[in-house]
Amino acid sequence: MAKLNIRNCARCKKIFAPAGNEKICPDCRAEEAEMEEHVKAYVRDHRGLTVNQLIEGSGAPAKLIWRMIQQGLFENAGLLDAEYPCANCGKLISKDVYCSECASKLRENAQKFSAALSSKQRAAEKRSQTFSNSMHDMMNGTR
Ligand SMILES: [Zn+2]
Ligand SMILES: [Zn+2]
Repeated sequence: MAKLNIRNCARCKKIFAPAGNEKICPDCRAEEAEMEEHVKAYVRDHRGLTVNQLIEGSGAPAKLIWRMIQQGLFENAGLLDAEYPCANCGKLISKDVYCSECASKLRENAQKFSAALSSKQRAAEKRSQTFSNSMHDMMNGTR
């Protein structure tokens, strides 16, 4: 049952057909990949940068840089602080997607949610692997 899957690119709003669950079109992905290379090269050439200096100096969008930090792309790359805002409250954090308060709140909600799940809904839960993976990372990554 192949359903034609189209969506608007989250970046340029153009309609495209995603192969998986990517949110941006191939053009934007290529542009972002290029930008990422540029940012990585910038960090290599300017050791000891802060995140703000990197955002200003490289001219790359802050969001892209935050995502790269979050993905651990600058580990041992000579960045002074590797902080980015919590996806929920905006507090500066250096790992995971959410700060510890938001993470524990979300964990509570997730527990309530899974307690409410009946066993026949478990199959559906399995299909949302992306969600459970990120929950898993979150639980492992929180002190
Ligand atoms: Zn696009
Ligand atoms: Zn937060």
